[in-house]
Amino acid sequence: MGWYNGWSPEQRIATLQIQRDAIRTGAIPRPATCLICRCTPAPGSENPVWLHDEDYSQPLLAYHVCRSCHRLLHERFERPEPWRALVHAHGTGDLWFEYLTMDPAAQWRPFGETYPDGLPRGGSDNS
Ligand SMILES: [Zn+2]
Repeated sequence: MGWYNGWSPEQRIATLQIQRDAIRTGAIPRPATCLICRCTPAPGSENPVWLHDEDYSQPLLAYHVCRSCHRLLHERFERPEPWRALVHAHGTGDLWFEYLTMDPAAQWRPFGETYPDGLPRGGSDNS
């Protein structure tokens, strides 16, 4: 795990632990439906839906994203075409994932500099 939106690997791992605890205690629901491809995998699926962070300062507002979409999202700087195809297939023009930068420097730059107005929330089932 590397830097993302200006957060270090250590900060990102700490956020993951906060999220695991929050789901275990019921503070936030266990993600079920991917906000990108809209899949709802069965329990035990090899493509589970988990949490994806853009703003690690708000770990309990993470997006629900399946493993497959999550991989393409994080790989978009090295492999932009599969990510662009996914966005094209599922975007409507104003969804959060359509606003994600393709600038590799954003991995080290603070979130608020890349997204001064923030990003849209996930929608009705992840608001
Ligand atoms: Zn998905």
